[in-house]
Amino acid sequence: MADTTLMDKLVSLCKRRGFVFQSSEIYGGLGSVWDYGPLGVALKRNVKDRWWNSMVHARDDIEGLDAAILMHPRVWEASGHVAGFTDPLVDCRQCKNRFRADDPRIKGSPGQPDAQCPVCGTRGSLTEPRMFNLMFKTFMGPVEDSASVVYLRPETAQGIYVNYLNVLQSSRQRIPFGIAQIGKAFRNEITPGNFIFRTREFEQMEMQFFVQPGTDAEWFERWREWRMGWHRSLGLDPAKLQWHQHSGSELAHYARAAFDIQYRFPFGWQEIEGIHNRGDFDLGRHQEYSGKKLEYFDQAKNQRYLPNIVETSAGADRVTLTLLVDAYREEQVEGETRVVLGLHPGIAPITAGVFPLVKKDGMPELADALYHELRRQFACFYDDSGAIGRRYRRMDEAGTPFGLTVDGDTLTARTVTVRHRDSMQQERVGLDRVAGYLKEKLGAGNWELPPAPISQLPAPGS
Ligand code: ATP
Repeated sequence: MADTTLMDKLVSLCKRRGFVFQSSEIYGGLGSVWDYGPLGVALKRNVKDRWWNSMVHARDDIEGLDAAILMHPRVWEASGHVAGFTDPLVDCRQCKNRFRADDPRIKGSPGQPDAQCPVCGTRGSLTEPRMFNLMFKTFMGPVEDSASVVYLRPETAQGIYVNYLNVLQSSRQRIPFGIAQIGKAFRNEITPGNFIFRTREFEQMEMQFFVQPGTDAEWFERWREWRMGWHRSLGLDPAKLQWHQHSGSELAHYARAAFDIQYRFPFGWQEIEGIHNRGDFDLGRHQEYSGKKLEYFDQAKNQRYLPNIVETSAGADRVTLTLLVDAYREEQVEGETRVVLGLHPGIAPITAGVFPLVKKDGMPELADALYHELRRQFACFYDDSGAIGRRYRRMDEAGTPFGLTVDGDTLTARTVTVRHRDSMQQERVGLDRVAGYLKEKLGAGNWELPPAPISQLPAPGS
């Protein structure tokens, strides 16, 4: 399968089955903004829940936070986003397209008569590069002047930094400890695209871990291992995951070290999460700009210091796309193409489809009762329309790992057919055992949190 075709097929499957729709489609769509349909929202929620469980529920040393999207404008001066979160851009005066100045398709130097627009081909139509800030601006209050300018946050991290003392004091944590947050972020990306890979509105899952200076490098290594372990535990193909180290000019001015976790998408190796050793840059800047002391007093050691920060920053949409790409496959079955999303059972939007084989002989009533019983614990879907083979295929495309069919034997022997998505094999399970069976299957596999061998290591600085 050609790689571009795979993305096209995935986009069309996502629309057909209700994973992802283009925003404002009936008005012609809004560029690079997407809406999640019933299955998409369930899949992304499972990603976020799994992240939250591993970060907050499974650990004593991380607290949750939900900071507002709008923040004091000085936050973005302190963070460096007002001055530095920019890309050089050129416009074509002829066709009105806008490009990054370093777009490899541009022939010649933008602003010069020989430079050629990569879209309309006009020579001399490209402007000089201009700096363009990626933050969305809006106005707070009724007056549209610069005093009331606020930004839609381009990352969730700053909400954590400015709340670090509030969380520390109210939760009675001690350093080392972390704060985790999931929330929307907005960037006026110049080159969005590749479906939900790079969008202008997206969701981040970020965790900032506050540590004693001098222990940061060691914590950084631990977080790298944990985060890679988490991505593997989603059932992603390990051969398609790799590290990319930032070096030289790639390394942000505030970072002591940075590694990306990359996945091999059909459009190449791309970042899905960044792990950064940010030193004391962030708290130092907020201390300077706010005039408030942000130091930590370590009572046991009788020491006062500005904590260092190790950050893990992942995109919920990107991880969702990664899961979809990794799971998509086509097979030939009895002369027909079967499309399957081989999602890990623990992350699939629907765990079990429940079907009466035919709409008579009491089967719908029994299937309906089973469905209502199971959906108290599992995400289930009831379907009684069309041939059973068609119903299985629809569930294959939705990534549903189990099909439960109430048939003639259910009426006599009180057993249902369990049909497995990946192997298409069938087995019979007692009606009263179905819930336990599903629970057992979901508990099996690489599903534990966080990866055991690493969590047994002693904590640095403890
Ligand atoms: P990229 O180089 O791909 O633009 P970045 O280095 O700017 O990413 P970070 O600022 O480190 O990304 O953001 C952390 C994570 O947030 C990324 O790993 C990604 O998963 C997600 N993310 C960032 N920008 C976008 C976007 N425009 N659309 C979707 N997800 C994004």
